[in-house]
Amino acid sequence: MDRLFHFFQSQFLAVSARLGLLGDMGTLGVAGDGTPVVTAAYPRSKPTCDCHAQGLAKCNHPRIYSQPDCNSGWDSARERYFNGYHLYMLTASNSPYDLPLYPRLHPASRHDAVSFVVSSVEFSQRFTLGMLDRILLDAAHDARPIYDLLLHRRGGNGSNGASAGARASER
Ligand SMILES: [Zn+2]
Repeated sequence: MDRLFHFFQSQFLAVSARLGLLGDMGTLGVAGDGTPVVTAAYPRSKPTCDCHAQGLAKCNHPRIYSQPDCNSGWDSARERYFNGYHLYMLTASNSPYDLPLYPRLHPASRHDAVSFVVSSVEFSQRFTLGMLDRILLDAAHDARPIYDLLLHRRGGNGSNGASAGARASER
């Protein structure tokens, strides 16, 4: 996982930043939002035995679940439940192409506001892009603890070079 993010940073983010595709790195503008990623209707699993091949429909042998972190959540836009993940994406909003900065899969049941906290903290710990100047979030993030988090980060010494602005605005 971390190697994947290292690859993403060194081969995509750093190159995009150098080419000016992410906007002004001194005053980085970031937008964050989540979207459902629907996977199979049932938790994916594979048998560890060959009972089914032998014609036995039911057995109690262990099964391998390759996506144990995938679960069920509520898609508020389509007003229905879904199985899978909640993709929370941070993008470079103050730039010509709105390129992704930090795509992260969360469990489907996780709310936007919680996904934002997890994603933004990880993002600031993993990546050293520049100064975060502005964050654009929708009303699902309009909670006092989120403002406190952003203000706290801006007040911190930001040893990784990133600090978050607290000018969150609704869209
Ligand atoms: Zn079996």
